[in-house]
Amino acid sequence: MHPLKLGDIQIDRVVELDRWVFPAKKLFPNITTDILAACQEWLDERFVDFNNAQLILGVHSFLIRAPKKTILVDTCNGNHRHRPSIRTRHQLNTRYYTNLLDTGVRPEDIDIVLTTHLHPDHCGWNTRLVNHEWVPTFPKAKYLINKVELEEIESFVVARRKKGEVNDITEMYNDSVLPIITSGQLQLFDTRQNTRCCLCQDVHVESTPGHSTGHVAIRVNGGGRKAVITGDAIHHPIQFNALNLANASDSNPLLATETRTRLIRECIDTNTIILGTHFAGPTACTISSTSSQLKFNWLTE
Ligand SMILES: [Zn+2]
Repeated sequence: MHPLKLGDIQIDRVVELDRWVFPAKKLFPNITTDILAACQEWLDERFVDFNNAQLILGVHSFLIRAPKKTILVDTCNGNHRHRPSIRTRHQLNTRYYTNLLDTGVRPEDIDIVLTTHLHPDHCGWNTRLVNHEWVPTFPKAKYLINKVELEEIESFVVARRKKGEVNDITEMYNDSVLPIITSGQLQLFDTRQNTRCCLCQDVHVESTPGHSTGHVAIRVNGGGRKAVITGDAIHHPIQFNALNLANASDSNPLLATETRTRLIRECIDTNTIILGTHFAGPTACTISSTSSQLKFNWLTE
C-alpha cells in the first residue's frame, strides 16, 4: 500500500507480516468449498492459496499523520513474545520497528496509540524488551483502549490467575498492557457512553462490537474522501461476498456479522476507502456493486 492522502491527513501501512497464512477452515469454520471456489473470480494468489485451501492475511499497523496528531492504530504481535497457541506469532523477530522508522516517524513522535481490540496480534508493539524488561515503545504516547475491552480482558485474566492458568491472553496482558498502565500512559474511552469518540479533527473511533465486546473501527475524513480502518470487524476480502462468514475468534458471531454487514454496506458505491487491518497487500480498496456481487477496486497508488 502506498501512503494514502486524504487532504492534509496521510495514512501509511507499517508492515509486521505481509503473509500470515491460515487454513481456510481454521480462520472461518463455516466456510464452504463453494465460497472458496466462487472467490476465484475476484481474488488472486495474493489473498488465497487455492491449491491448499489457505487464506493469506497480513499484519500491520496504520500510521495516521494528521496536522495536530500522529496516531498509530494497532501494534501487531511484537517481537520475542511467548504465544505458543499460534505458532506463526510465537517468538517473532520481525523488521516492524525498522519499518516504522522508515516512515520518517520516531517512537517519541507518536501522540496516540489506538488499540482496536485487545487481542495479541493488535497490541504487541505497545512495548519492547529493554534489559529483560517490557517498556512502552512510544514514550510520549497516550495508549487509548476502550474501557469495555479492558474490563473484559482483566476479568478474564483474573479468572485464569485463580486457576493458575497461563495462555496467550494472560501473557499479552502481562507484557503488552500492564507496562502501559504502570507507566501512567493508559487513557480509557468508553463506547457505552459514546459510540463515537473523537481522536482529533476528522479522525474518530466507532463502536463495532462482535469480534470482541469493545471492538472499535476508525473513521478518517479528509480532502472530501472517507476511509475506514476495519480492525477485525472483517478479516479477509473473501467476506465481502460472504458477510455472514464468522471468524473462529469472534466472541459473538451473530453480532460480528451484523456489524460487518453494516460497515461494508455503508462503503458500497460511496468511494469509501476500506483499510483492512488483516488484508494482505495492497490492503486498501473501494467497493462498488454489480448486479450479482461486489466489485473491488484495489488502490495500487
Ligand atoms: Zn487480528
